[in-house]
Amino acid sequence: MNDSLSINNEGNSSNNISNRGKRYSKRLVKKKRKVKKIFRYVVLSTVILLIIQGITFFSSSGKENDDSEYNSVNASSKLGESSNLIDESNILILVNRENKIDETYIPNDLVIPNVKFISKNSPNKMLRKETALQLENMFEDAKKEGINLLAVSGYRSYEYQKELYDKKVKRSGKEEADKYVAVPGTSEHQTGFVMDVLSSEYNKLDEGFKYTDAYDWLCNNMDKYGFIIRYPEGKEDITGYEYEPWHLRYVGKEAAKEINDKDITLEEYIENNNVK
Ligand SMILES: [Zn+2]
Repeated sequence: MNDSLSINNEGNSSNNISNRGKRYSKRLVKKKRKVKKIFRYVVLSTVILLIIQGITFFSSSGKENDDSEYNSVNASSKLGESSNLIDESNILILVNRENKIDETYIPNDLVIPNVKFISKNSPNKMLRKETALQLENMFEDAKKEGINLLAVSGYRSYEYQKELYDKKVKRSGKEEADKYVAVPGTSEHQTGFVMDVLSSEYNKLDEGFKYTDAYDWLCNNMDKYGFIIRYPEGKEDITGYEYEPWHLRYVGKEAAKEINDKDITLEEYIENNNVK
């Protein structure tokens, strides 16, 4: 709009110029008019260009907003395991033996959560930003109720998982390794949505953790922060993994509530929400 005003001003001031033109030679006036003509064209075409750009910008940003997290969840789960279009950054991404994560994928917002770790030198302290924030809130609130949670292991790179797996195979054989260590590319830890959690009363990554007050507290409260026990007891045939009471997966509050309330797995949640 401002641009069109300036064009009108140009028209008015042309009279003044022709009055003053007496003092100049005819040639100079002609040259000035020519410059003004070019200037007018430039302004006009700039205005048109800006309008066109504005239209394309607003129409495309509208589409972006419609393609929010929820839509891409459905898209990725509909596309299934063999698709390369799966959005790894989606909080409901399904990673398991059948649904591998791209080996080059690294989350772009990894941070170290400000919580107590079981070991200061852990190489895997990072989580995605939102997950880290919710973990911090959960640890803080647990502490207020006398539960001292400890973080063990968060984001693991593909390479780290590969090393871990290869080591376990070497030590215990492939069968044992497949039971407890995710094959590289099938570990949720690569998503940055997972933290293994224990407590000051129990610091071993084994099933004994389920008898602790900390585990009790987690079962009653973790969904308020968007976390689930990703590999529950009795669901091994669905998840493909042995029960892991320490392995907490961030899925967001809404999904966590439904999964915990209905006592289902992430696999079942995704399937249920696809059906509707
Ligand atoms: Zn884990």
